[in-house]
Amino acid sequence: FENVNKWYPSNGYHVLRDINLSFAKGEKVVICGPSGSGKSTLIRCINALEEYQEGKIIVDGTVVGDDVKGVDRVRREVGMVFQQFNLFPHLTVLENLILSPTWVAKMPRNEAIEKAMAQLERVRIAEHADKYPLQLSGGQQQRVAIARSLCLTPKIMLFDEPTSALDPEMIKEVLDVMIGLTDQGMTMLCVTHEMGFAKAVADRVIFMDQGQVVEQNTPEEFFNNPQNERSQDFLSKIL
Ligand code: ATP
Ligand code: MG
Repeated sequence: FENVNKWYPSNGYHVLRDINLSFAKGEKVVICGPSGSGKSTLIRCINALEEYQEGKIIVDGTVVGDDVKGVDRVRREVGMVFQQFNLFPHLTVLENLILSPTWVAKMPRNEAIEKAMAQLERVRIAEHADKYPLQLSGGQQQRVAIARSLCLTPKIMLFDEPTSALDPEMIKEVLDVMIGLTDQGMTMLCVTHEMGFAKAVADRVIFMDQGQVVEQNTPEEFFNNPQNERSQDFLSKIL
């Protein structure tokens, strides 16, 4: 991100302010901050789910902008997992996974199935391949959503509060799957307030407030010794 600014032309609301950030290959970054601070907007700009007005976002050499081919290229490299799992309810787990590889990436069906089953093994849910999403628990559905993103072999994974719609007993199984991904050199940006996760895997925590990056530090420093008044205030509420 180079001097990225975003506002909503409809009401002039300035949602991202002078964002300068870079993420290294393989880096694990946790983004936190109060509701409305711009966390979702920030990561959604990376795969062009949101547009921005000023500055530049570059993903692996490609500028995220108006060029449709560039957006396609970026979306092929960037996987995203949302708070609401966004699975297709009328398709089985396996069909959800092979949809985009066969339609978008034009992968032969057999190959897509083989890949999908491998990803389902990876999130430990292969035995549910022929079920429909609503026959699964929330934690299982979220693991399917993660497996689906992995089917396109992304270089970067974006997570937007992947556990905040889950019952407490299901949070751990999803976090464990995410921790499993960190072994394989995947670049991960994760909006979450799961401090245990941040401490276990994050190289860096970024704290946002009112559209700005207010503080960034290692998890140890950020959680034990926050420097900014706004971070201190935020942490006193979630701890
Ligand atoms: P949360 O923790 O609640 O998910 P967030 O940090 O992800 O919050 P964003 O969803 O990025 O915050 O939203 C940032 C701000 O942008 C919010 O104040 C929101 O009201 C505002 N916003 C979002 N969409 C629009 C829109 N279409 N028009 C105007 N303002 C918007
Ligand atoms: Mg959000």
